[in-house]
Amino acid sequence: MIHIKNCLDDIQTFVDQRLRRLRGTLKDYEERTVHCPACEQLALVADGKTNRCHFCGLVVTTTQALINFYLFGHPEPESQVKVCPQCTQPTVVKNVPVATGECVAFCFGCPGPIRNQSDNSTEVPQ
Ligand SMILES: [Zn+2]
Ligand SMILES: [Zn+2]
Repeated sequence: MIHIKNCLDDIQTFVDQRLRRLRGTLKDYEERTVHCPACEQLALVADGKTNRCHFCGLVVTTTQALINFYLFGHPEPESQVKVCPQCTQPTVVKNVPVATGECVAFCFGCPGPIRNQSDNSTEVPQ
């Protein structure tokens, strides 16, 4: 029993170390880092091209495949996808937690969080 427990501790330590190192690697990409659909770590950097998970190495080369994979198992995946106001593609997924700690509407196409839902109104304050 003791031996098994030590093994598990080792695995946990290994995962912790790896995640800590990842935080450094992903530092500049926090806004574009989402949960990997394969390993479920907050380690997949959406760049619109390779969309690579820096934890398990998953690579998803098309935006649509990534969205399908990301929403796999969701009861109503279609209802989660919106058209992006920036790139006009149906590549925005609602309520995506990103590595900054926020939960945002996230465009996998641009890619990045859609922060401003305004309609580009040109109203000028009087
Ligand atoms: Zn992964
Ligand atoms: Zn977009």
